[in-house]
Amino acid sequence: MVSLLRQAHQGDGMRTYKPIPDHVNCVHCGKTLPSSRPKHAKYCDHICASSHQKDEYKNSRIAMGVNIDLPSGTVGALHELLVCADLMMKGYNVFRAMSPSCSCDIMATKADVIYRIEVTTGIKYPSTGRISYPAHKNGRYLFDILAVVFHNGEIIYHKDGGVYEP
Ligand SMILES: [Zn+2]
Repeated sequence: MVSLLRQAHQGDGMRTYKPIPDHVNCVHCGKTLPSSRPKHAKYCDHICASSHQKDEYKNSRIAMGVNIDLPSGTVGALHELLVCADLMMKGYNVFRAMSPSCSCDIMATKADVIYRIEVTTGIKYPSTGRISYPAHKNGRYLFDILAVVFHNGEIIYHKDGGVYEP
C-alpha cells in the first residue's frame, strides 16, 4: 500500500494526497463507489449495506440446508424445542412458557436450581465465519442463560457474559 502511494507521487510534486479506497466498487451491487464515500466504504449507501446483510443471512441459511420458506415464528418455535430436547437429554426438568410475551422462553431445573432460559437464533456468515445474534438487553427479558441456536441445530449457551455448558 505504501509503495503504491509512493509510486503515485513520483514525478508529480503538485498532486495532492488522496488515499486509495479499500473498495472501488460496491460489494453488493458492483457499481463504482462515489468518490465522496469514506476510504473504508464497502457499499454505495445503507440500502446496499442492509440488502447485502439480508442476502448473507439468506445464504447462511441455504448453506446449512435450512428450508428458507419456513415462517420466522416456526423457526423460533423449532429452536425452542431443540433447546428443550437438549436440556432434557442433559437431565433437566424442562418447562416451556405458555405465552410468547413471557420474560423468558424456558425454565429448567436440576438439583433444586431453577434456570430461566431465553432462546434466540444466531447466524454464522459463510463468507467470514462471523457469528451474530440479538443482544437481548432491553427490559423485556429476564433470564439467566441465553441459548443461541444456529440454523444447523448447533446450540451455544451463554451465562454471565461467557459460554456456558449446562
Ligand atoms: Zn451498491
